[in-house]
Amino acid sequence: TPALSVRRLRKTYDNRVEALKGVSLDVAPGDFFALLGPNGAGKSTLIGIVSSLVNKTDGDVEVFGVDLSRRRDAAMRLIGLVPQELNFNMFEKPRDILVNYAGFYGVPRAEALVRAEEELKRAQLWEKADMMSRTLSGGMKRRLMIARAMMTRPRLLILDEPTAGVDIEIRRGMWKTLKEINAAGTTIILTTHYLEEAESLCRNLAIIDRGRIVEQGPMKALLAKL
Ligand code: ADP
Ligand code: ADP
Repeated sequence: TPALSVRRLRKTYDNRVEALKGVSLDVAPGDFFALLGPNGAGKSTLIGIVSSLVNKTDGDVEVFGVDLSRRRDAAMRLIGLVPQELNFNMFEKPRDILVNYAGFYGVPRAEALVRAEEELKRAQLWEKADMMSRTLSGGMKRRLMIARAMMTRPRLLILDEPTAGVDIEIRRGMWKTLKEINAAGTTIILTTHYLEEAESLCRNLAIIDRGRIVEQGPMKALLAKL
């Protein structure tokens, strides 16, 4: 079963913009997959539909074989989402942010504390566990967003332009954390308009342009064509 299977996906917004014009793609379990494309290509729309934030117009989406339309809650339990904007409480401590988030999703407190330690270490935030989040560097705040999404132990981690507008040092720190998460078995899908980002992280990618997939396959094969 693919981690993500998208078939003939269409999205026409209320303003009649056809953001997706019949997109099909498969992401294998364990993959690190990039959806690469220019601004306006339809990346956020696709990610939005997969994460249930946007309603599709037509087509099918399955997450590890679970149909998103028929079993939305079950599908969503398999997904972790890292929003682009920092949306945690800057006046809380990283450890509390993670534990409270897990608690919201029903993880018992003792288990949440264990997970928080693991995730804070993986995101290189362990020394900052009990600092006020406001005092973290930009890169640390970004990695905290990733650590939080991992607290529910998703099988598929989705990031929409995770490094948009951040400098190269911050990007490298995020890449390191994402590589470790993927190496431990979590499938990752990210959207990006940086070829360089797709190149340094991803095994497979799809290139999307004006609502259609124009290329799809292993990173290496696509690089050879460019
Ligand atoms: P949906 O069909 O998923 O409910 P809508 O078409 O209703 O989406 O739009 C959702 C929101 O996005 C609306 O509040 C709308 O104002 C806003 N929006 C409209 N046009 C654009 C655009 N071109 N890019 C981004 N957001 C837009
Ligand atoms: P990308 O993430 O690749 O930049 P998007 O999925 O955000 O692309 O946008 C694809 C197309 O859909 C664009 O033409 C955009 O203006 C339009 N669009 C995005 N969101 C909305 C919305 N909520 N309402 C109307 N049009 C939208």
